[in-house]
Amino acid sequence: MRAVRNAPPGVEVVQIDEPEGDGELVRVASTGICASDLMYLQFGSTQIAGHEFAGRLEDGTAVAVEAIFGCGTCARCELGSYNLCERGPTALGMLDPGGMCEWFRAPRHALVPLPEGLDLMDASLVEPAAVAWHSCHLGGAGAATRVAVVGAGAIGILAAASAQTMGAPEVAVEARHPHQRDACARIGAATPDGGYDVVIETAGSESGLHRAVELARPGGTVVHVGVYGEIRWPHARAFAKEVALRPPLGYCGHDGGREFAEAAGMLAARPELPRMLITHRFPIEDAPEAFRVARDRSQGVFRVVVEP
Ligand SMILES: [Zn+2]
Ligand SMILES: [Zn+2]
Repeated sequence: MRAVRNAPPGVEVVQIDEPEGDGELVRVASTGICASDLMYLQFGSTQIAGHEFAGRLEDGTAVAVEAIFGCGTCARCELGSYNLCERGPTALGMLDPGGMCEWFRAPRHALVPLPEGLDLMDASLVEPAAVAWHSCHLGGAGAATRVAVVGAGAIGILAAASAQTMGAPEVAVEARHPHQRDACARIGAATPDGGYDVVIETAGSESGLHRAVELARPGGTVVHVGVYGEIRWPHARAFAKEVALRPPLGYCGHDGGREFAEAAGMLAARPELPRMLITHRFPIEDAPEAFRVARDRSQGVFRVVVEP
């Protein structure tokens, strides 16, 4: 089968054997490219790319595939915290073979059937939506909270939409590029002023993290989705306001729910989100070009999707 392999600084389309072994066989339909995929290339990964993907089971069921899943049997997995699995969760596209390929095998507990109203070709967006949803959940976004988001890439817009869906009466987003400001206006997000209960940092930069702490109220929470290299940590500013800094890890289950399914439900209920956020689509043979387009955030790009 055809697959896209990390070949730093870019990717290459290769022929590999179809996956064997345990798990359900998924015919992959769409795979998104995320900033993390570009970071894995920087780290020198030569793994099969892709952690945001969806496809069809052999019986025809359309599913989105979790990129972070646990063993399914340890104490933490049983509690639903499979992102904190005792055996270490998977990291598709980095440590484990990813889903930018024609066929993928995943354990049944990593598959989430798509809700009515969410098209399979848009469902690679469920994974980043679940990351955004989890970050809002972890920060305590809800009906009585003011929420700000720093960074207006796909994850930032999805975090703002998640906070709105969770009932936050006021959601503001700090955006850099014109197409990002348009998207903020379309979902009804304001421009941040200050004093927020929950701030979600999605820019992934030192300045983004410092700005997030600045926007939080005393005693507020900053959830930093960004993965940073060596940066100056905003200790003094966080200390002075006793702001809690929380790094979210993927997504998980919780009492009576599963974030991956809840995020899929949000996308189904708000079809304007996939319409707005999937800006480019490429067939698998054009994956190297898809990665080139995904690198340039200033050119109206939210998510670039490869269709294997
Ligand atoms: Zn991602
Ligand atoms: Zn486990």
